[in-house]
Amino acid sequence: MKRQFIAGATCPECGQMDKIQRIIDGDRQWMECVACGAQKDLDAKPPEATDALAQPVTLQPGTKK
Ligand SMILES: [Zn+2]
Repeated sequence: MKRQFIAGATCPECGQMDKIQRIIDGDRQWMECVACGAQKDLDAKPPEATDALAQPVTLQPGTKK
């Protein structure tokens, strides 16, 4: 696991600057505020979403779930 502060980042929860760490753990990464503990996922995607992203998504009019 790797942690690094994001310079100039402001916490959306407590509003403090330079309290946000980017945490990278394997293929996951998220942000965590060391002041209030707020966490926010970055571009973490569940593994099963990979296949869906590999093919273009087109919205078909008239297609219903
Ligand atoms: Zn905070």
